[in-house]
Amino acid sequence: MRKKIVAGNWKMNNTLEEGLKLTSEIVNMVNDEVNDDVTVVLAPPFIHLTSVKNSINGAEKIYLSAQNCNEHPSGAYTGEVSAAMLNSIGVGYVILGHSERREYFSETNAELAKKVDAALEHNLTPIFCCGESQAIRENGDFVSFVCSQIKESLFHLSESDFSKVVIAYEPIWAIGTGLTASSEQAQEMHASLRTYIADQYGSEVADNTSILYGGSAKPGNAPELFACPDVDGGLIGGASLKSRDFVDIIKSY
Ligand code: PEP
Repeated sequence: MRKKIVAGNWKMNNTLEEGLKLTSEIVNMVNDEVNDDVTVVLAPPFIHLTSVKNSINGAEKIYLSAQNCNEHPSGAYTGEVSAAMLNSIGVGYVILGHSERREYFSETNAELAKKVDAALEHNLTPIFCCGESQAIRENGDFVSFVCSQIKESLFHLSESDFSKVVIAYEPIWAIGTGLTASSEQAQEMHASLRTYIADQYGSEVADNTSILYGGSAKPGNAPELFACPDVDGGLIGGASLKSRDFVDIIKSY
């Protein structure tokens, strides 16, 4: 059975004080209101990871994610953070290939393949982001474009390593724009990705792969998205910065 996951990507937001307030609100609401079958993941900025970890300590359903890691094991990479460092402070997940990193930091599918390897080597679960631009959506090649992102960054993995990866489909035209993929658009892409994964790794692996949706998800549209048979949760940006909205999204599963 694949996991249901709702992850909050805080991006470059919140002072430490604000981040800890948000964490404690989420922890309290999740403990009181959320049933056990949804895994909740919080992805604060690197600098707040340890403090947020201390603040969620004891909340069994809540896990910690970084928003990126470097592909190298260690060395002269000023400003970077390795997968081993994240593992050493108790981080369990890492978001890789977010469209903002692809766009503003020129991350390529080949570089992301190395980051995925580094993450897996240090027992981090990659949340691998993929998704098409508005132009690609309009020209109709969106399924093959997203499949090629997955092929180039993930299909070198062994079956057992691929089974540890979580995929987040995030159409770029829906991220932070207020435009959301319709449930039909999300289901079409998620089902196509699952078939593509089944062709490479077999249907058991594909059936067990969690494929999250991301892109302007809110309490109002999450129930419809999460009702799609191939949508296994969400990667939430803006709405994850408001505890009530984030927990309502989790609860709508
Ligand atoms: C994201 O950045 O991963 C995201 C889904 O953002 P938003 O929910 O704000 O569209």
